[in-house]
Amino acid sequence: MFERFRKEHAERLAQRTERLAAARATAKHLLDHDDIPQLATALRTLKAAWADAQHPSDGTQQLCSQLRDRIDVLKRRPYEQALRPCTQCGGRDFRISDERNLEFFGDLRLVVCESCGLTQIFWADLGKLDSSRYFSTTFRVPEGGGPFR
Ligand SMILES: [Zn+2]
Repeated sequence: MFERFRKEHAERLAQRTERLAAARATAKHLLDHDDIPQLATALRTLKAAWADAQHPSDGTQQLCSQLRDRIDVLKRRPYEQALRPCTQCGGRDFRISDERNLEFFGDLRLVVCESCGLTQIFWADLGKLDSSRYFSTTFRVPEGGGPFR
């Protein structure tokens, strides 16, 4: 009886170790890729497998950090690519905040000019504007120059 219990316990442990190894391999492979949803899934899977294996000191924690860093870099990239020199001072150095949730308005990012502090606010996901009840439908400005149409 006791022998059977020990055997089952050992098998469960082996399965969990195997699952963790597979999750680690997938995560390492994905670190070179740009697919944010896949990276996020890999991070969730890895964290769950690591917890099931009772948090062994095998570098999984560092791997989770690497995945989080990779996701952050990829999420920040569109802002970096969209930025142009500051409209107020011509500065080219900016700080980009993490996504932060502002009540009612969803996830936003602040982009601050390092030289003059001019701050721009960006929606994290423009697609969500369509489902926001706090914004009208798109309004297109009529053509024609100048502020006095
Ligand atoms: Zn500036």
